Amino acid sequence: MKRVFCYTIALFMLLVALPLQAIEYTVESVPNVQVADRTQYVSDPDGYIDSASRTHINTLLAQLRDSNSVEAAVVILPSIGYEDIDNFATELFTHWGIGKASNDNGLLFIAVMDQRQIVIRTGYGLEGVLPDILCSRIIRQYITPAFREGAYGKGMSDAVEHTLHIIMTPEASAELMAEEPLFDEEDKAILLSMLYTYLILSVIISLLLTIRINRTIRQHGNAPYECYKELNSNNITILVVAIFFPVWGWINYMWCRRVMKQMRNKPRTCEKCGTAMHRLSEVDDNQYLTGKEDAEERIGSVDYDVWMCNNCNNTEVFRFDNIYTEYSECPHCHAKTFSMTRDHIILPATTISPGKGEKVYTCQYCHLRKSIPYIIPIIAVPKSGGNGGGSFGGGFGGGMTGGGGARGGW
Ligand SMILES: [Zn+2]
Ligand SMILES: [Zn+2]
Repeated sequence: MKRVFCYTIALFMLLVALPLQAIEYTVESVPNVQVADRTQYVSDPDGYIDSASRTHINTLLAQLRDSNSVEAAVVILPSIGYEDIDNFATELFTHWGIGKASNDNGLLFIAVMDQRQIVIRTGYGLEGVLPDILCSRIIRQYITPAFREGAYGKGMSDAVEHTLHIIMTPEASAELMAEEPLFDEEDKAILLSMLYTYLILSVIISLLLTIRINRTIRQHGNAPYECYKELNSNNITILVVAIFFPVWGWINYMWCRRVMKQMRNKPRTCEKCGTAMHRLSEVDDNQYLTGKEDAEERIGSVDYDVWMCNNCNNTEVFRFDNIYTEYSECPHCHAKTFSMTRDHIILPATTISPGKGEKVYTCQYCHLRKSIPYIIPIIAVPKSGGNGGGSFGGGFGGGMTGGGGARGGW
């Protein structure tokens, strides 16, 4: 008995739920009311807009077409599935070819009920008189509040009426643009919170870096060469932080460079006899370097310092890697003298077949030459604008959109 009851409940819920399952429309299946009847501008298959509002919108849009040759459409759909409304609007705009092909003055209002989203899409020719910022304002001012209360007809017809006013009186548009602040309160709040996050992050990251540099210096204070190497290996990180978080970041960077310089120049004592050493000049030190080291120093991938004992003439060579060099280690001789010397196209790519290229790496010391071929991908052909637009015969004039307009929710 209990089971029968459960089944009944389930069946009942299924029956209730079925009609609620919204029909998902595709660009192709949205009814193009203009094709059927030139006086109709509202495609509302599920009847969200009351007939008085529909009549009002139709009158307004006919007037707009007659006086300014602007072609407009209002679409209100229960669902487009998981499609993105922005893409859907652009695709429908192109598919219907809203606006005259000669001046692309099309205008589309599209609302998707289950996503609670609306988009105003303008053709290329309307972007000047109806900039995105005004579309966004129309949505916020007229659509969002009315739609929240379920007054879809009122919201849509008020939005259309206001848009019309802007298009038909360009002075009004200029005035509205002048009074429209660059950022409204919501934008300001977002910008402020982004700024705070940035500042806090800047302080935290710079502080962590300062602590780290300080720790390195204290740890290796007695071993200047080790200290230098450690700081050098962190140099790129410090530089990146300095670029993203100026002021403190740069202070860190400059400090790090200064310490590195001090560490490099710090007087050394001979390992053998403990006497002070002196550094040989760049010219004098060459005779103490191997051919490999000399080659590295000549191309600037590594710098070498040679210190000589004032007492026993013992020499010590210190290596300083340049981290901002294009050279890497040669796989054959292991000198840091390997770099790309040529990158050329052997066979150019076309729209039907991939091409071939070759990168040539050469070692400046042992003259090893290594060629690495690579594939150049096929040239992608941009999708042509749907089926040319306006192919629905009696419908719209074949206008195009560059994706202008705005999007909003309720
Ligand atoms: Zn010595
Ligand atoms: Zn080599």
